[in-house]
Amino acid sequence: MATTPLDLDRPREECGVLGVSLASGDVASTAFFGLYALQHRGQEAAGLAVSDGRAVRIHKGMGLVPQVFDAASMAPLKGSLAIGHTRYSTTGANSERNVQPYVVETMHGPLGVAHNGNLTNADSLREALLARGAGLQSSSDSEVLALMLAGTEGATWEERLATVMGEWVGAYCLVVIAGTKVVATRDPWGFRPLSVGKLPGGGHAVASETGALETIGCTDMREVRPGEVIVLQGGLLRSHQPIQPKAQARCTFEHIYFSRPDAHWDGMSVHEVRQNLGRALAEEHPVPADVVIPVPDSSTPAAIGLARASGISYNEGFVKNRYIGRTFIEPTDELRRQGVALKFNTLEENLRGKRVIMVDDSIVRGTTSGPLVKMVRDAGATEVHVRITCPPIAHPCFFGVDMGTYDELIAHHLTPDEIAAHIGADSVGFLSVDAMMGALERDEGYCNACFTGAYPVPVQLELATTKQRFDGVLA
Ligand code: SF4
Repeated sequence: MATTPLDLDRPREECGVLGVSLASGDVASTAFFGLYALQHRGQEAAGLAVSDGRAVRIHKGMGLVPQVFDAASMAPLKGSLAIGHTRYSTTGANSERNVQPYVVETMHGPLGVAHNGNLTNADSLREALLARGAGLQSSSDSEVLALMLAGTEGATWEERLATVMGEWVGAYCLVVIAGTKVVATRDPWGFRPLSVGKLPGGGHAVASETGALETIGCTDMREVRPGEVIVLQGGLLRSHQPIQPKAQARCTFEHIYFSRPDAHWDGMSVHEVRQNLGRALAEEHPVPADVVIPVPDSSTPAAIGLARASGISYNEGFVKNRYIGRTFIEPTDELRRQGVALKFNTLEENLRGKRVIMVDDSIVRGTTSGPLVKMVRDAGATEVHVRITCPPIAHPCFFGVDMGTYDELIAHHLTPDEIAAHIGADSVGFLSVDAMMGALERDEGYCNACFTGAYPVPVQLELATTKQRFDGVLA
């Protein structure tokens, strides 16, 4: 599947997971729309596994949710239990056999698994499974999780889950479908978001974001606690806490970029946090200007916040083609050369003769900021000042977010002033870690490893430490 140049310069999203248990009736339509609301978390592939308590039926494939599912593929998905997954490939190659959910036959009956995150000890767990004679079909962590679960002692799936969770290190949210239950859990560090809510008419749903729960009509929503295991069965919801929460390490990037602005996480509105990030930028990196523009869409609330705090007027500077996203059609070489112009056009009337503050959520590899700055200048701006709603990303993520290696991260090699020169901006201002956490109104409880290099659990740094001269990488 083709990616646009802009997609390559964003922290690439993790995955979205969903689990639904209705009190009665067929769940497929509810699950489809819940999954559709998680589309932004994974655009490579999607899948649903549905159970009537006896058989688990599955449909999955490469592409966006509406490309994978149609009336014919939905028709066999009969039953009141479902799990679903939208995938962006992180660990494991982006191939059809890595598409989730996985369904494996076990001595306790069929087991379906969908997973979001990345285990930092997956290699040793994989080797241990292979040494025991297990056959692995994919390169994904999720298959490792499924086979470990299937081979563990315990009277119930929640008991087996509690046993194997003790061996898993890293970021995971897991939804499981087996027998008459959907079982879900979140890692004890709380890296990735997971929330549960009550469905109208009985039943419950669990999803990576509250927006997906709201889409399917949930009320009484709350976060799944780190280390908690919840069981959805008919109209019932049961909770266990087999593992106590460890030092919390929520992914800050959920607030900065990944989550939809209608999400609520850690008791906060993502939209409000993004406005706060913009206000913090106005305080930390003030600059005289005539207009504040966002790089749409995730930067829009921050640009509004910066404009309000600075008294500089807000306006649109770019029009984004929201539908280009992932496509099966390869752009021609000429279109590829146009780069970000495939995705953005400028509104010249808002930029001509103006000193512009351009707000963006992050700079990863630095390959799109330059073309965007050039587009603003070509539209007639006299100055372009770039403001970024997070600190420089100088370290890779080992917890399920694809940001690239040290080689690829521009902030690992260049100072902010050097980045400004590289992308052709008059100035670049990144938020400090303190200012960012101030905008979140939190002192602790978050992972900031991609900014600081302080990883909350041990990681294999050598996997991302082939340091080269950055000049060579840019060439
Ligand atoms: S390293 Fe960065 S992207 Fe990865 S979990 Fe931590 S904050 Fe999120």
